[in-house]
Amino acid sequence: SEEKHLNFIEEIVEEDLESGKYKSIVTRFPPEPNGYLHMGHATSICLNFGLTKKFPGYTNLRFDDTNPVTEDTEYVDSIKEDIKWLGFEWQNEHYASDYFDELYEYAVKLINKGLAYVDDSTSEEIASLKGTPTEPGKNSKYRDRSIAENLDLFQRMKAGEFPDGSKTLRARIDMAHPNMLMRDPVLYRIKHAHHHRTGDKWCIYPMYDFAHGQSDSIEKVTHSICTLEFVPHRELYNWLIEKLEIYPSHQYEFARRNLTYTVMSKRKLLQLVNEKHVDGWDDPRMPTISGMRRRGYTPEAIRDFCDRVGIAKRENVSDVGLLEFCVREHLNKIALRRMVVFDPLKVIITNFAEETQWLEGEDNPEDENSGTRKIPFGKELYIEREDFMENPPKKYFRLFPGGMVRLKYAYIIRCDEVVKDDSGNVTEVHCTYIPESRSGHDTSGINVKGTLHWVEVKNAVTAEVRLYDRLFKVEDPSSEEGDFKEYINDNSLHTVATAFAEPALKNARINERYQFLRKGYFTLDNKDTYSRLVFNRTVSLKDSWKP
Ligand code: ATP
Ligand code: MG
Ligand code: MG
Repeated sequence: SEEKHLNFIEEIVEEDLESGKYKSIVTRFPPEPNGYLHMGHATSICLNFGLTKKFPGYTNLRFDDTNPVTEDTEYVDSIKEDIKWLGFEWQNEHYASDYFDELYEYAVKLINKGLAYVDDSTSEEIASLKGTPTEPGKNSKYRDRSIAENLDLFQRMKAGEFPDGSKTLRARIDMAHPNMLMRDPVLYRIKHAHHHRTGDKWCIYPMYDFAHGQSDSIEKVTHSICTLEFVPHRELYNWLIEKLEIYPSHQYEFARRNLTYTVMSKRKLLQLVNEKHVDGWDDPRMPTISGMRRRGYTPEAIRDFCDRVGIAKRENVSDVGLLEFCVREHLNKIALRRMVVFDPLKVIITNFAEETQWLEGEDNPEDENSGTRKIPFGKELYIEREDFMENPPKKYFRLFPGGMVRLKYAYIIRCDEVVKDDSGNVTEVHCTYIPESRSGHDTSGINVKGTLHWVEVKNAVTAEVRLYDRLFKVEDPSSEEGDFKEYINDNSLHTVATAFAEPALKNARINERYQFLRKGYFTLDNKDTYSRLVFNRTVSLKDSWKP
């Protein structure tokens, strides 16, 4: 059997299971429903769900919905759809907001232990007393309130007696602690805001640090995996679990996944959406899961990418070329081959007398189980304008006056005559076909170097084709000077309004993948395809990039 290299978190889990610390594990994927999932989240999803595929246990989906202002059920729905599409199933669907009652009781417990107090300071005052990494902070003048007074005030905060920002509940730890996050962190704030699930029941909301670890603990999560920026939070995570005497979940950290030529923060992606730089969260140029799905990426390719890059202990940027390599590899295996001409030049086959002749072409030479489709050949064809040159350079293997090429699946043709309009533009080329040269039955003895894709005019179907380039002009827009949006590539979308496709594409289906010969991999757009066909290019056929 294939021995697979374990990543460092898998190694920790394996040790914990071998040592008997756990019989099975519980992980969770904890998105905040304030945006659509992106490729960074895919890494976290593959890691968390991957662990419980490899080892005994299960993974929960938990919405970290403690911030009423930015959250929305539209995001909840999209997140669930994206995880399922990626191929994973959660055991339980939880919401941190379902724990608001328990979290409130935990806060009361801390107050009763003398470990939390209500502070009337403004956020500016709190910040000004925080100190610096090298200098201790100063105690708030409200720090020594009695337990009874704190209980009373906290209860009245909950009851809605005080305006936003007028009071907070803070942990009572140590204002001289070397870890700034341990200097009496805020646990609760007042926010008279409507919550997408709890409605107007609450006007105090727990801070991330007072919700995340506690939710992990309530769900008996064994391995709580987060990204590196939470390393300094681990001390508080452990302090709260210890003081509350609740189930000891453990936090582990790995480096965020970044990708070249894009940005991967919901805040920045939301700006692109709101300021209409893109056509929504699922714009095919976005690094969101929904955007990549619309673009034609497959879940297999995304999982393969996450597998290949693995997870790191240090911040790094992955080459989007590797992601494109992964999708190309998968699409090569599954895509149906089709011919589509983007910029037509008419070819008249002068010696072809018949009506349409129906030829056959295999759907996918990489898949022996794939079928064939019928391809019409006739007197009038389209080839790509760029596949013809009147005065070609040496070693030009496409069509030129007197030259010969093979039309894929069909015949060898020879160019006899060029027809031009008054301004000298080529409008048609007249060719003869070699009847003995039919593909698979070629007895002509003629060797040609070039093979072109083409479409018969009479039976062609029209389609809109969208070609994408990178959304940003620089590798790492977030690390450049100034605003990241200054680096947007204004030419990231090129639309071919009317392309001509072989008739098999009339029955194209969403979720089916196509290779347009010599053009790349394509899929139907899942939003704009209704009365007409709209294809998105997922990725070009080749790239110089090697894994
Ligand atoms: P963003 O900065 O894009 O808003 P976030 O971390 O705030 O991301 P959450 O919804 O809180 O987004 O993330 C859910 C989970 O996905 C968290 O465990 C988080 O650590 C993980 N995650 C988010 N972004 C990345 C990333 N770029 N790489 C790896 N994991 C990520
Ligand atoms: Mg977050
Ligand atoms: Mg964030």
